[in-house]
Amino acid sequence: MIAANLGFPRIGIRRELKFAVERYWSGEWDEASLLAAASRLRLSHWQLQSEAGIALPPSNDFSLYDHVLDTVVMTGAIPARFERKDLRLPLAGYFALARGAKNAAPLQMTKWFDTNYHYIVPEFEAGMEFRLSGEKAVEEYLEAKAAGFNTRPVLLGPVSFLLLGRRQKGAATLRTLVEQLLPVYEQQLAHLSNAGAGWVQIDEPCLGLDLDSGQRELYELAYGRLGRGKPKIMLAAYYGGLHENLRLALGLPVEGLHLDLVRDPGQLLPALRAAPKDMRFSLGLVDGRNIWRCDLDRALDLLRAAQGYLEPEQIQVAPSCTLLHVPIDLRQETGLDPRLRGWMAFAFQKLEEVALLARAASTENSFEIAQQFAAARRRRDERRIAPETHKESVRARTGALRPAMFARQQPYSARRLQQAHAVPLPLLPSTTIGSFPQTAEIRRARAGWRSGLITQAEYETFLRLEIERAIRFQEAIGLDVLVHGEFERCDMVEYFGERLEGFAMTTQGWVQSYGSRCVKPPILYGDIERRRPMTLAWSRYAQALTDRPVKGMLTGPVTLLQWSFVRDDLPAGEIAFQLALALREEIADLESAGLRVIQVDEPALREGLPLRQADQSAYLQWAIAAFRLATSGVMNQTQIHTHMCYSDFRDFLPEMVKLDADVISVEAARSRMSLAASATAVHALGPGVYDIHSPRVPSVGELQSLIHRALTAFPPERLWINPDCGLKTRRWEEVRPALENMMRAARRVRAGIYRKRIQPALYKSASA
Ligand code: GLN
Ligand code: ZN
Repeated sequence: MIAANLGFPRIGIRRELKFAVERYWSGEWDEASLLAAASRLRLSHWQLQSEAGIALPPSNDFSLYDHVLDTVVMTGAIPARFERKDLRLPLAGYFALARGAKNAAPLQMTKWFDTNYHYIVPEFEAGMEFRLSGEKAVEEYLEAKAAGFNTRPVLLGPVSFLLLGRRQKGAATLRTLVEQLLPVYEQQLAHLSNAGAGWVQIDEPCLGLDLDSGQRELYELAYGRLGRGKPKIMLAAYYGGLHENLRLALGLPVEGLHLDLVRDPGQLLPALRAAPKDMRFSLGLVDGRNIWRCDLDRALDLLRAAQGYLEPEQIQVAPSCTLLHVPIDLRQETGLDPRLRGWMAFAFQKLEEVALLARAASTENSFEIAQQFAAARRRRDERRIAPETHKESVRARTGALRPAMFARQQPYSARRLQQAHAVPLPLLPSTTIGSFPQTAEIRRARAGWRSGLITQAEYETFLRLEIERAIRFQEAIGLDVLVHGEFERCDMVEYFGERLEGFAMTTQGWVQSYGSRCVKPPILYGDIERRRPMTLAWSRYAQALTDRPVKGMLTGPVTLLQWSFVRDDLPAGEIAFQLALALREEIADLESAGLRVIQVDEPALREGLPLRQADQSAYLQWAIAAFRLATSGVMNQTQIHTHMCYSDFRDFLPEMVKLDADVISVEAARSRMSLAASATAVHALGPGVYDIHSPRVPSVGELQSLIHRALTAFPPERLWINPDCGLKTRRWEEVRPALENMMRAARRVRAGIYRKRIQPALYKSASA
C-alpha cells in the first residue's frame, strides 16, 4: 500500500517563492536567479515529503504563479492581444499573461472552487490554435528523477481546463475545443512516458460539480482518447464527492481514481462496488483543507473497508486534495500554545498521517503504530473537553436566540426617514469602502510596535495622526460619509482574530492566495467571545475630529469564518452565530458612542456559496441569518452598510436583499455598472464607480458616465457613489486624484439632476 500525495504548497516555508518572484519583477534578480530559487524550493519540498514517509510525491504541482496559467502556456492558449514581442522572453511573457503587458490587459483571475486560492482564467478565442508549447511537466519530472525522487507528474485535465475558462465571442464549441486540445495532451503524455513516467495524475476537479449532459460527454470524449495509453492515468477529483458523476468517472477508461473521502466518505462503498476489477484507488483520507489532525481511527476504518474489496497494490493513501491550501510545517510554530499545536497538522504533518495510515493498514500489531494512534486519540479527547472549545456562557447565548434578534425594529421604508433625519445626506451620497493606503511608513510603525521598538503610546499617536490626516483629506474633497482609514489593521480578518477569544494566530502559517500573494488565515479553534471593544476607540476618535458622519467599520461573521481555518467540531452555522453575537456587541458600542453609520463587510459571503446547488440553500440560510443577527440590534436611525466584492453578484441579488442592509456597496466598475440595473430590489446601492485594483486614475468624464449609467436603473436617493473596494493596496498618489475626480463627477451629476428636477419645480411654484 502506497502513501501518495497530490500536490504540495509551492511558496516555501518562509515564502521564499513570493520574495524570489517579486525580486525578479522589480528587476533586482535576473531570470536565472529566479529559476534557481524555484528549483531549490522544489527539491526541498520533495525532500520534506520523503521525510514524511511519502513514497509517491507529485511533480509539476509547482508553479511560479498559477497552475492554470501553466496549462495556458502548455497548450499555447495565448489570447491574440498579446503580441509576439510581449512573449519573446519566456518568463517575462509568462508573467505578462497574469499581470498585463504594455498594450494588453492581463487574463482575469477568479476564485478556485470553494477555496481562497485564485486562478488565472483561460480565454478561448475564435480561431485559437492549441499546440504543445512548454515542457515544464517533463522538465520537473526529470529534475526530481535526477535528484532521486520518483514522482507522479500532475496535469490539469483538459475538461476542467476548458470548463474553468471563458469562451470568447465566436469561439468554437466546447466539444470542438476538447477535440482540438486532445492532441496537445496526447503529445504531452507521450513525452512524459518517454521521460520515464509510468503514471500521471490528471486533476479533474470539475467532476465534483453539477454537470449537464453535454459536459459529461466531454469527459467521455476526452478520456476515451487519453485513457488506456501510456503513462497510466490516476484521475483526481476533489473538493467534494462525485455523487451522480461517480458512474461517469468509474466508466472512464483510466487506470486509477482518486476520491475525496473527507468531504464525502459515503462514496467509498458505492465506488468500490461499481469499479472495474483492476482499478486503482487513491483514497483521500486526510483533510487537505484544514489544519486539524486527522481522526485516524475513522480514516483507518475506511481504509479497512477498501481492503475488503481491493488488493494492497490497488490502494494508495493520500490527502483528500492537493495540500496547496494549507501551510507547510507546524514545527515552525513554536509560539503557539503547545496544547493547541497538538491538535493541529500542516502539510508535513498531514503527510506523516498519510504515511502512518498506509503503514497501519499494511502492518499487523506494530507497537509503534499503536502508540501513535493512542496519542492521536488522546489529543482528540483533550480537544473535545478543553474549556476553550466549550464555554457554557457562549453556548447559553447561542441557545437562547429569539427570532426578534434577526430583524431590525422596523422595515426599511420606516427606517429610511429616521435615518435621513439623523444623518442628512445629499442626493448621490458619497463614501469610500473603508481603508486608505497602507503606506510603507504605516507598515514600518506596526512592525516596530510589534517588535517592541516603539511603544504602544507612540504607535497610537502615530495612528491618530494618520487618521486625522485622512479625515481632513476627506473633508477637503467633500465626501459625505467619512471613514477612519483602517490604518491600525494589517488585515481585515486578522485584526479581529487577534482580538476575539477563540482565535489563534500563527507566525508562518502562510497559504497562497494568488500569484505571489499569500495570506495567513487565523485559526478559529474555540468558542468565540469578545472580551473588550475592538474598534471603538479608533472610530470614536475619528468621529470626534469632524462634524460629518464617520462610518464604523467591521468585518462580518461570514467573512471572518470563510477566511480562517475553522474548527471542524461544530457546525459552521453555529460558529457564525457566535461570531455574530460578538460583532453585535461591538456594533452596540459603536452606536452608543454616537456613530450613526456602521459598515459590516462581507466580501466572502458570495464566494462561500457551496459548489453544488444541493448544498447552497442550507449555507445561505445560516450565512444571511448570521449577518442579520450581527446587525439587527441597532436603532432605526442607525444605517447599516455592507460591502461585497470578488464575485459576480448578478445571480446573488435575492440573497443581498435578504440581508436587509440599508446600503450595499459592491464591486461593479469592471462590469461597467451592469449590476445596478438588476439590483433595484436592494434598499440602496453603492456600485463601485472606480476599479481600485488598477493604479489608473479614472477621468471625471468616465466616472460621470458610469454614474449616469447606474442612474438609468436607480433613483439618486438610493444610489451611493463610492470606489469599488478598500484603498489599502493603492498609493496616496493614485487615491488622491481618483477620489477628487470621483467627487467632481458626483457634483456634476448632482447639479444636472438639480437643474432637471428641482429647478423646474421651483420655477413652477414661483410662477404659480
Ligand atoms: N473595509 C475593507 C477595506 O476597505 C473592505 C475590504 C474588502 O472588501 N476586501 O479594506
Ligand atoms: Zn472589497
